Amino acid sequence: MKIVAPAGGIGAARFLRGLRTAAPEAEITVIGNTGDDISLFGLRVCPDLDTVMYTLGGGINEEQGWGRADETFAVKAELAEYGVGPGWFGLGDRDFATHIVRTQMLAAGYRLSAVTEALCARWEPGVRLIPMTDDQVETHVVVDDPEHGRRAIHFQEWWVRLRASLPAVSIAPVGAEDAKPAPGVLDAIAAADVVLFPPSNPVVSIGTILSVPGIRDALAAKTVVGVSPIVGDAPVRGMADACLTAIGVETSARAVAELYGPSLLDGWLVDEADAGVAVDGVAVRSLPLLMKDAASTEAIAAAALDLARELAS
Ligand code: GDP
Ligand code: CA
Repeated sequence: MKIVAPAGGIGAARFLRGLRTAAPEAEITVIGNTGDDISLFGLRVCPDLDTVMYTLGGGINEEQGWGRADETFAVKAELAEYGVGPGWFGLGDRDFATHIVRTQMLAAGYRLSAVTEALCARWEPGVRLIPMTDDQVETHVVVDDPEHGRRAIHFQEWWVRLRASLPAVSIAPVGAEDAKPAPGVLDAIAAADVVLFPPSNPVVSIGTILSVPGIRDALAAKTVVGVSPIVGDAPVRGMADACLTAIGVETSARAVAELYGPSLLDGWLVDEADAGVAVDGVAVRSLPLLMKDAASTEAIAAAALDLARELAS
């Protein structure tokens, strides 16, 4: 069984951990979102790749969902003493090592996909993790800033510093139109028996991956089953509603499925709270979708896989 999953950060990482247990024999290829990547203190930081790598590799801070377990923040405190920011992005001492290794390898000429493979050699996540592209794609958000007027800012500045408090006028994956899928991405999709969409942000995670030319069409040729990140009329956590509003999509399980559309999506898992939701051309199943613990997460992954197998045959 070969499975491909495009992935954002925390929600995807937890789902993938359940999938690994639900399908221990499967060969899982994860296509990671790199639109959230940012350079800080001269270092290249890839939050979604690292969240997947640390979570599946057993190094994640479980409560927080991102960053390293047993973390300390001495470097950050020392930088602040020099007046060097930003202070709003949490980088711990252990985490810094990952970004130093990555930046050093990139500077030596390795591509991000090769760097990610090298980092994963330590973490052994049990999946093949490939960034969506080796080219630079950066998600920018246009906001009406009360001080500076209408301007585009980096996604992380909007999401982490502003907590999406300024409404997004628009959201764009800058550079996507010229980006190429990273080596291995299209081959993995072509070889896949099924494609699963974990609960990830439909705009700035899955949407960004789909914006890399070639990826959407390759996925659409496969049996695709997704897990709704929206339960009732709200995201389970985070501010995905702010992203959906920016692109004129209602925050509901049905609207997200319609955003992907029946040309891409074959099956859609919704929470019991959304039982009865129907989407034209998409097989919808309802079950508890909260990833509360290992057992509930594995059950969601197993249900996604069952539906995909059923629709593929
Ligand atoms: P991303 O990196 O931007 O994709 O962000 P996260 O991984 O933090 O969250 C992505 C989406 O997953 C959010 O819209 C959450 O509502 C959703 N999510 C988080 N936890 C759960 C869960 O337990 N169940 C479901 N169905 N969705 C979840
Ligand atoms: Ca993310």
